[in-house]
Amino acid sequence: MTDPNKPLLCPETLAASFGVAADMAYGSVAPPLYLTSTYEFAGYDQPRLYDYGRAGNPTRDLLGDALAALEGGAGCVITSSGMAALDLLVGRLGPDDLVLAPHDCYGGTMRLLKARASRGHCSVRFVDQSDDEAVSAALEEVPALFLIETPSNPLMRVVDIRGLAAKAREVGAAVVVDNTFLSPAVQRPIALGADYVVHSTTKYLNGHSDVIGGAVVAADPGNAQELRQWANIVGSAGAPFDAWLTLRGLRTLFPRMQTQQANAMAVARYLESHAAVSKVHYPGLPAHRGHAIASRQQNGFGAMLSFELAGGIEAVRRFIEHVKFITLAESLGGVESLVAHPATMTHADMGDEARAVAGISDGLLRMSVGLEAERDLIAGLDYGLAKSGN
Ligand code: PLP
Repeated sequence: MTDPNKPLLCPETLAASFGVAADMAYGSVAPPLYLTSTYEFAGYDQPRLYDYGRAGNPTRDLLGDALAALEGGAGCVITSSGMAALDLLVGRLGPDDLVLAPHDCYGGTMRLLKARASRGHCSVRFVDQSDDEAVSAALEEVPALFLIETPSNPLMRVVDIRGLAAKAREVGAAVVVDNTFLSPAVQRPIALGADYVVHSTTKYLNGHSDVIGGAVVAADPGNAQELRQWANIVGSAGAPFDAWLTLRGLRTLFPRMQTQQANAMAVARYLESHAAVSKVHYPGLPAHRGHAIASRQQNGFGAMLSFELAGGIEAVRRFIEHVKFITLAESLGGVESLVAHPATMTHADMGDEARAVAGISDGLLRMSVGLEAERDLIAGLDYGLAKSGN
């Protein structure tokens, strides 16, 4: 029987109510925002729970605890960006440590790993994680960190977290999953064997395109504590106001995800049937290579997709000039629909060669599907596609 003092709350309830009505001072329903940088000591040699804002802040910790609960982890560190979250793990490595990362990871992640490696802070190897033989060969080099991004950005390749995590653990690698594209509403990597989950909270967790932030959730309490100490050493903590906004955004994570996923499925089906579109990458489509794995390890198919225009770069330019109701911008996961051209935007820094290896063509567009009415989204796309051919 469930212990009534320790109710096992559903994740939807956790997201909506974590820290609600817990204010001891005034009974405020919304959690208070503590902006202080420092805290009064209770007396000589008597620090309180918090002493300095870089080390800890109640608002930031509330968001961290909420994310740890949602991801099923032991603790969480909130950072100033998604890149700072990843670097919290990578920056602790030594020159002999190897990071094994997906060959089609987020461009900023590739840039960070290459920058660290080029300065001798660690070494890095990029591998196609859907290729079992390539993964096994790379694991023989005994990486310290095995980074997984699924679905990948921008091609939405899906890999089997449970299978890869088991293989990586055999050689003692710590498994890190970047769960930015799905959020814990759709995928919970720790339950599948991950040691750490990384987020750009900038995306679905905040959900309103008005905060840059990140988070690292650790499955193990000792690792969580070490990360907290490291975050204090390097000073990568997120701002309290950003944490407060992100916690507010988190309240609606589940209904947002549900509606955005439904919209994405409708958009993917529409695009699939359009003559100007040569390929749609969306794990919700049965024809997608990762559909079976996604059906198994995800609770839905997410709201990110990408598609290729048959007319290449010229068609892309014309589409972008004419598409309606969808904004040309980097980033994703907000309530508004965005479209990006990876070759000239998010993945431009990768260089032509690495993009070609990763399969990112000049005709590829990535879309973050928002909360707008399905009918309007399809009408907006339809107009852009009709104009893309001439
Ligand atoms: N991870 C993924 C999958 C991303 O898409 C991004 C940003 O787009 C990041 C990490 C980096 O996050 P941030 O921009 O918050 O630093």
